[in-house]
Amino acid sequence: MADRFDLIVIGSGPGGYVAAIRAAQLGMKVACIEKTKTLGGTCLNIGCIPSKAMLDSSELYYLAKNRFQRHGIQVGDVALDLPRMLARKGEIVKSLTDGVAFLFRKNKITTYFGTGTLIGKGKVQVRGETAAELEAPAVLLATGSEPSSLPGLPFDGTHIVSSTEALMFDRVPEHLIVIGGGYIGLEMSSVWARLGSKVTVVEFLPRLLPANDAEVAGMLHKLLSRQGLAIHLNTRVTGAKKEGTSITVTAQAGESPLEFKGDKVLMSVGRKPVTAGLGLEQVAVQLEQKTGKVIVNDRYETSVPGIFAIGDMIAGPMLAHKASEEGIACVELIAGKPGHVNYLTIPSVIYTNPELAAVGLTEEQVKETGKPYKVGKFSFVANGRAKCLDEAEGMVKVITDQKTDRILGMHILGPRASDLIAEGVLGMEFSACAEDIARTCHGHPTLGEAVGEAARAAWSTAIQS
Ligand SMILES: Cc1cc2nc3c(=O)[nH]c(=O)nc-3n(C[C@H](O)[C@H](O)[C@H](O)COP(=O)(O)OP(=O)(O)OC[C@H]3O[C@@H](n4cnc5c(N)ncnc54)[C@H](O)[C@@H]3O)c2cc1C
Repeated sequence: MADRFDLIVIGSGPGGYVAAIRAAQLGMKVACIEKTKTLGGTCLNIGCIPSKAMLDSSELYYLAKNRFQRHGIQVGDVALDLPRMLARKGEIVKSLTDGVAFLFRKNKITTYFGTGTLIGKGKVQVRGETAAELEAPAVLLATGSEPSSLPGLPFDGTHIVSSTEALMFDRVPEHLIVIGGGYIGLEMSSVWARLGSKVTVVEFLPRLLPANDAEVAGMLHKLLSRQGLAIHLNTRVTGAKKEGTSITVTAQAGESPLEFKGDKVLMSVGRKPVTAGLGLEQVAVQLEQKTGKVIVNDRYETSVPGIFAIGDMIAGPMLAHKASEEGIACVELIAGKPGHVNYLTIPSVIYTNPELAAVGLTEEQVKETGKPYKVGKFSFVANGRAKCLDEAEGMVKVITDQKTDRILGMHILGPRASDLIAEGVLGMEFSACAEDIARTCHGHPTLGEAVGEAARAAWSTAIQS
């Protein structure tokens, strides 16, 4: 006999687990199926969290080795203990994935460890550690995404690897070749460059981070080059040849052939939705032809009534917080409540040094609308707190509608941009004008003052520049 629920969630990433908890809070009897051994999905196990753990540890190592002297701190020989660094990362992951398991127990969510497959409308089979058949009026697909590779260069787990393996190299690569200058490629490049690798980034497009504001992404490009990353734009990878422990990547930059010889290749050319083995064809759930993503309507319902989908496997940016927001909105709508996601105010963050965080439109996107606009900028070099931190590179850029002063976009390259962007997100959520942020009193000395000053520059004139 099938186990009966109000909602079956397939996948326990930040989309699925958050949706499951919210649904339980709304009174639903919920099951969540996860095919790996731990809850939390890509984000907690092999994505956001372990990458930030490695970014923070490698940054401290770099600072101790290269920058502490500037503060008058002599530390003698600084040595890397990579096994300890990796173990610390593992401890953080474990504590957070255990935390999800605790929340599931607290909210009386039944967990099934195994692969979930749709075997009919409202019917899901679980195969794996637990074997079961489940039934529910609503099924939520939240199976996320996996790394893509280039044709002819498949992952082999040792020479050509994805971010998953690049988060657990057991020694510092001598020369890491990173294919793809998106945020995952740049974050992993930063980790291993700080720990001592020579790093070469090969990008097919004419610029890094094409979804970001060109001016701000250009500034980050310069700073990363200054940190030692060799960045090749307009360069198409054509192949790779392995010889013993080394690998040679061949590429074409215009008419010029190039060769890069290294010991590890990180392929970070994007991610694709996980839909195989889910039984979608069985129930005729429709996919976008080009991207393979599941098509949903504005209630996150697929082409089959009663089957919903959220997160990386549907359209939109592949970000953990976007998946969570969709999970909450989707189950609220199922429960007859007014769930909603404002896609204009989803922030994005790149955890390089300095960090790059953004919300809303880029200057290029605003230009395309043809509407008159204003730009206010404030450099961290004129911010007292940034100076004290010895992290005064970068700027805050605020773009506003010239007529209404409404904030259209905010782009921050600088220390703790990841946290500072929340002010822009909140402002845009409340349809703030630049004047609102300029007139908001910011503590002194804080990095947030740079946000206030950039808003002031967009609205009238900055005081401190
Ligand atoms: C290196 C790296 C760094 C990242 N850093 C950030 C960051 O800093 N900030 C950010 O916002 N995003 C970041 N991301 C992206 C983020 O991890 C994803 O956007 C997010 O995890 C998507 O959530 P999801 O719930 O849609 O899917 P996922 O987190 O991918 O979860 C899907 C889950 O479904 C399970 N599953 C799949 N098929 C089945 C099945 N048939 N049966 C049962 N279970 C199944 C999978 O095992 C997985 O646990 C990063 C990603 C990577 C790879």
